[in-house]
Amino acid sequence: MKAIFFPEPKHVEIIEVPEPTYGADEVLVDVQIAGLCGTDLNVYRGLFPLVTFPRIPGHEISGTVIAKGQRVPEHIKIGDRVMLSPYSECGQCPACRAGRFNCCEFNQTLGVQRDGAMTPRFAIHHSKVFSSSTLTFDELALVEPMSVGYHAANRGRVSETDTVLVIGAGTIGIGAISAAVRKGATVIAADIDDQKLALARRFGVQHTINSTRQDVLATIKELTNNEGVSVAIEAVGLPETFRLAVEAACFAGRVVYIGYTKKEVSYNTQDFVRKELDILGSRNALRVFPSVIKMIEQRILPFNDLISRRYPFAGAGEAFHDWDAAPNEFTKILIDIQG
Ligand SMILES: [Zn+2]
Ligand SMILES: [Zn+2]
Repeated sequence: MKAIFFPEPKHVEIIEVPEPTYGADEVLVDVQIAGLCGTDLNVYRGLFPLVTFPRIPGHEISGTVIAKGQRVPEHIKIGDRVMLSPYSECGQCPACRAGRFNCCEFNQTLGVQRDGAMTPRFAIHHSKVFSSSTLTFDELALVEPMSVGYHAANRGRVSETDTVLVIGAGTIGIGAISAAVRKGATVIAADIDDQKLALARRFGVQHTINSTRQDVLATIKELTNNEGVSVAIEAVGLPETFRLAVEAACFAGRVVYIGYTKKEVSYNTQDFVRKELDILGSRNALRVFPSVIKMIEQRILPFNDLISRRYPFAGAGEAFHDWDAAPNEFTKILIDIQG
């Protein structure tokens, strides 16, 4: 069978790989849709520090179970439509011992530290598949990126009494926004792009701030009776947005970082102490796939609006090329693996 393949940065090839075999605890999945995310773009650009080459990408995956090993539980059936959890856990490190498998020190995400699933068939441990009888393959491929934002809202303990600022209204930001909206919070979105802010509004954000035209901090003060937000979630990864989150948070507020900055960030650390902030990192997603599947199944929020463009399997090289050339023009690109 064929696979989408990065021999080195900035090169995409389609190569021939062996058909996968599946073990007693594994299911064999007919892969339908692979979503591309910021990580994939950075891998393509050779800018993602955790990746090694050559590599088969693909970690936002949906498909159908077509075979199962003899130790796979009853509830997983041939024909189930599933999404894949792309993470692994060692079971031994401090994070795993604390039950926080999402930040396992030795996590290997599909398509990053090990080969991903941009192949027509893929074998995976049964504990890594989550099914829905009503979601489309497109929607199932959105579950993982939405879960990353959802986990960040959980890290920030977002509830209906909170005012939440989400900095960055890309896919991950929209995941945090939809979780915060679903939990009943008042949500403010800040971004540099009017189209992304319009999308955020469709997801239930009450206020939007375009930081190229508006003073974000001053607007937040206005919107919050001069207090600041109780939760600030950063989903960009720049030094200035890292600082903005701390500045925008109220006294006794919470700050959650999902963005990965490549530069050093300098802070006035007095705010950490003076405000007694909870400053939290948020990585991957922990036990939220069923919640996110349920959220998308309710079809209250317009998740399909995240999809900017789709490409056939043979067009994967073109997809990365186009996205690299105009990163702000796309929210979510899908690759039709069988197409
Ligand atoms: Zn991703
Ligand atoms: Zn571990």
